[in-house]
Amino acid sequence: MDLTSYAELAVLLINNPDRLAGLEGLRALLEEGGRHRPGLRLTRGDLDALRDLRAELVAVFEAAQSGDEADVVERLNSLLIRHPVQPQISGHDGQRWHMHLTEGGRTAEQYAVGAVMGLATLVTDLGVSRLGLCQASPCRRAFLDTSSNRSRRYCSERCASRANVAAYRARRKGGGQ
Ligand SMILES: [Zn+2]
Ligand SMILES: [Zn+2]
Repeated sequence: MDLTSYAELAVLLINNPDRLAGLEGLRALLEEGGRHRPGLRLTRGDLDALRDLRAELVAVFEAAQSGDEADVVERLNSLLIRHPVQPQISGHDGQRWHMHLTEGGRTAEQYAVGAVMGLATLVTDLGVSRLGLCQASPCRRAFLDTSSNRSRRYCSERCASRANVAAYRARRKGGGQ
């Protein structure tokens, strides 16, 4: 089981606040994250819980962005206590046996366990600096920096080229030519 890939759940949640407006959006979000299963039960409670989780995950990425590693670790440890892993072997829907980080509980809780465990694994395997927020103001979308030289600054190619154009214009203006 590749736990690092679970960190994508955190990014998906942070970058899609509009999906948390209602159950329809939440269903779409879970499908995007590969977390949707037939007959999945979703409630208002799931929405509330994921909105709270999102705020906490944003705080983790902001702490990482400001270089406060101790704060990142403290926040993740607190989340790990509140969303404990309770691994179970599962084989639903004709799939081969595979591990689930937790069974039972509401859908939001399963999502939280995955996202938090993913971030904790990424941080301990690769470092806090891998948690990024896009520097192309006002974007601030979250991303995971898996580049070999940890140099990623933007969420997407689109933001990178937008930032390059802005920097070029600023240089021309400043140079007075
Ligand atoms: Zn499964
Ligand atoms: Zn961006």
